[in-house]
Amino acid sequence: MKIETKCLHEGYEPKNGESRALPIYQSTTFKYDSTEHVAKLFDLTESGFFYSRLGNPTVDAVEKKIASLEGGVGALCTSSGQAANMLAVLNIVSSGDHMISAASIYGGTLNLFAVTMKKMGIDVTFVDNNATDEEIQAAFRPNTKAVFGETISNPTIAIFDIERFAALAHKNGVPLIVDNTFATPVLCRPIEFGADIVTHSTTKYLDGHAVQLGGVIVDSGKFDWTGGKFPGLTEPDDSYHGVVYTKDFGESAYITKARVQLMRDMGTCQSAMGAFLLNLGLETLPVRMERHCQNAAAVASFLSARPEIESVSYPTLNGDPYHEMAAKYLPNGCSGVIAFTLKGGRAAGVRFIDSLKLISLVVHVADIRTCVLHPASSTHRQLTDEQLDAAGVAPGLIRLSVGLENIDDILEDLAQALEQA
Ligand SMILES: *Cc1c(COP(=O)(O)O)cnc(C)c1O
Repeated sequence: MKIETKCLHEGYEPKNGESRALPIYQSTTFKYDSTEHVAKLFDLTESGFFYSRLGNPTVDAVEKKIASLEGGVGALCTSSGQAANMLAVLNIVSSGDHMISAASIYGGTLNLFAVTMKKMGIDVTFVDNNATDEEIQAAFRPNTKAVFGETISNPTIAIFDIERFAALAHKNGVPLIVDNTFATPVLCRPIEFGADIVTHSTTKYLDGHAVQLGGVIVDSGKFDWTGGKFPGLTEPDDSYHGVVYTKDFGESAYITKARVQLMRDMGTCQSAMGAFLLNLGLETLPVRMERHCQNAAAVASFLSARPEIESVSYPTLNGDPYHEMAAKYLPNGCSGVIAFTLKGGRAAGVRFIDSLKLISLVVHVADIRTCVLHPASSTHRQLTDEQLDAAGVAPGLIRLSVGLENIDDILEDLAQALEQA
């Protein structure tokens, strides 16, 4: 099946007389006839649903759909994008370990890595997205366990050279984790470029309607965990009578461990209702992404021709530093998100945002409705000026998320607000 078809049909196939739409299994638990059967479920020798923290038929259908869209062997839905990145890392990185992350990433992920994981004894080195191979190689240590980056970074719209970082990670015996939130599997499938694990904040385009927080982790099934660096996957798990994930679950070792160990213990699960809403969004994802890209390209051209604007970041623009990389990784478009800086800095940015009429100021992005945000005073306000600088976020930077309204209405609102600014 092609991706448009997968978005509609993967994960759930109704049998004769069954519900056409994905049913919502609004139940915490599932009934069994014997203690013997339940014991097998707990020993992981038989699969089945028993408690919705670990698995639920509605959530399972959506996990199967997203795994298929990304080209992975399995997926795990989580309560938010933050939970997805947290579990994706903690599944293979422990206290005393080290990881490498691209510097241009979402502020929440930066906090997770630089503040909370640091407290947990995990050291993260941030490298510039455009660092040379030698510079990246120099960041590896004997205890490095993973490399992380975002396909299209939030909010700076830097593109991550997936193939190059994957090659360096693999040379050093560790997997590459890619947060593919802005690109979605419609525009880029990181596994095809060598990524081993893919994460999303499904809160953004995959849902797309701003109705439900969520996240997902997808396992490519391709990474060989048996090189000696990942004892959590290759040595017996005493909490499951000595299960060895790589031996007992083969190519699904990583995603199985994330579910049966981390989700069991940390509990950041998606709900059946949440998964149902996410699935509604997924069904129309390819149609929406096409229009988001089309409208954003038009807005980016419009902005770059205006005298009030200092700079516009959108990779389809000629002269954008990521133009060539976008042609490789995002040939069908670069999503609806644009970053730009107004002349007149912070004050002009505030006047611009306060003058918008149709476009709304929200702490959100990747919605069907066009929305705008000033990162330095909101999502990134916890970061020091140095950290802002390292993440490429100027004080006057505005993140514009172009929605599905008629392009004429979007441009008219932008034009009048620019005049006010
Ligand atoms: C929003 C976002 C997150 C965090 O997701 P939540 O669903 O808000 O927890 C992580 N990564 C990226 C790229 C994001 O845009």
